[in-house]
Amino acid sequence: MTHWNDDDFDLNGDTLHEECGVFGILGHDDASTLTALGLHALQHRGQEAAGIVSFDGRQFYQEKRMGLVGDHYTDPAVLAKLPGSIAIGHTRYSTTGEVALRNVQPLFAELEVGGIAIAHNGNFTNGLTLRRQIIATGAICQSTSDSEVVLHLIARSRHSSSTDRFIDAIRQMEGGYAMLAMTRTKLIAARDPVGIRPLVMGDLDGKPIFCSETCALDIVGAKYVRDVENGEVIICELQPDGSITIDARKPARPVPERPCLFEYVYFARPDSSVSGRSVYTARKNMGINLAKEAPVEADVVVPVPDGGTPAAIGFAQQSGIPFELGIIRNHYVGRTFIEPTQSIRAFGVRLKHSANRAEIAGKRVVLIDDSIVRGTTSIKIIQMIRDAGATEVHIRVASPMIFHSDYYGIDTPDPDKLLANQYGDIDAMCRYIGADSLQFLSIDGLYQAVGGKKRDPKAPQFTDHYFTGDYPTQLTDLHGRTMTDPKQVSLLKEAG
Ligand code: AMP
Repeated sequence: MTHWNDDDFDLNGDTLHEECGVFGILGHDDASTLTALGLHALQHRGQEAAGIVSFDGRQFYQEKRMGLVGDHYTDPAVLAKLPGSIAIGHTRYSTTGEVALRNVQPLFAELEVGGIAIAHNGNFTNGLTLRRQIIATGAICQSTSDSEVVLHLIARSRHSSSTDRFIDAIRQMEGGYAMLAMTRTKLIAARDPVGIRPLVMGDLDGKPIFCSETCALDIVGAKYVRDVENGEVIICELQPDGSITIDARKPARPVPERPCLFEYVYFARPDSSVSGRSVYTARKNMGINLAKEAPVEADVVVPVPDGGTPAAIGFAQQSGIPFELGIIRNHYVGRTFIEPTQSIRAFGVRLKHSANRAEIAGKRVVLIDDSIVRGTTSIKIIQMIRDAGATEVHIRVASPMIFHSDYYGIDTPDPDKLLANQYGDIDAMCRYIGADSLQFLSIDGLYQAVGGKKRDPKAPQFTDHYFTGDYPTQLTDLHGRTMTDPKQVSLLKEAG
């Protein structure tokens, strides 16, 4: 599901891609309360709807609600409807119009092997192809969520155990995903073969937890154990004596891990650690590298909050230019892109940010943002800063130019709606957004900020197609092949 309602890249209008967070726990008496808390910490990944499924040794329970986690799952009456010691939960974004409760995960089904609930973050790049095949053979689909496709594949598998059926199903899926499944006795976690979407394992009083980011472990006071590895399936099973067994498998052909760079640039919470790297440190390093690559004479460094703040701190430290909160964010408004149309989205920027005149008037301002997608935010903010009396406004962006859409669960519009594609070169982009100067972090600068090394062109260490066109998996639904666009890659090089 996407925030880009007006130009979603959907294929026949019946697929959704997900920006979401997942949380699951096994063997804890407060399973659903802990799941609600975990989801609360993951709402930056999706804040439109949330669902929890639990099992109490007798039956499965499910609650799905539109709105914030805190609007519903802090109510003891709602949590009382989710008893048991196994629970998984999901929080999601969706403004594709397809906001129906039936798409809210986890999805639950009674199968030959017993009840099973599943929830995922990410997007399957062959989900639609498989859905069409399944429907052609008579299956009934009740949602447009790809998790339902996985449920059907589990139902059809001829393996006898739920674990083997689950593995059989995910082997048929391609794309970027972090998936949780629960049965009457098991909590299963799976991460896509490339490790595009994040998934971590934690421990609370000896009980296993899986969640999208470490910030969800912190909120419940759980210990971080490790990241689920790329291509790994971890099966935790509650035994009749109350003990829990943990079995880790690698069913996919092993390939090197390539975590998604956009988690570090924008998506993950700064207090999380993704694939063992602090998101905050990575963002600060992006700012440091940006100051080295694209210095500017200015009086004050101002972040576009909240995304640009860690990079602005790095930029200020490296350049010696004072850091000030020249833009104040109104926290009672969701992310800009939650607005469904372009006109309301533009308005939303003003709802969300306001200029702090005292720190801006009469000054040369260097504004730091984490990314430019369509340019909507930049145009509004630059005008706002000028109106507040800035003498110059320079934009420094803590990631490279974005030329390509994402198909793994980061919400991006069609390529022709991306500012970099609309205007082609930096000078034209700079004129369009109305800045005095504009510079982007280079791809090597970004790689070094996150992983300490330049991009290895033969074996890139991260998923970076939005900048380079190098998609790490097949894109079966889109093309039936892996997509690279040499023209766009060379444009990116020019952009530096
Ligand atoms: P735009 O206004 O279209 O150029 O988008 C850039 C702004 O949106 C930046 O301030 C980012 O922090 C934020 N942003 C970038 N990617 C996303 C995304 N996938 N969803 C929501 N916001 C985003």
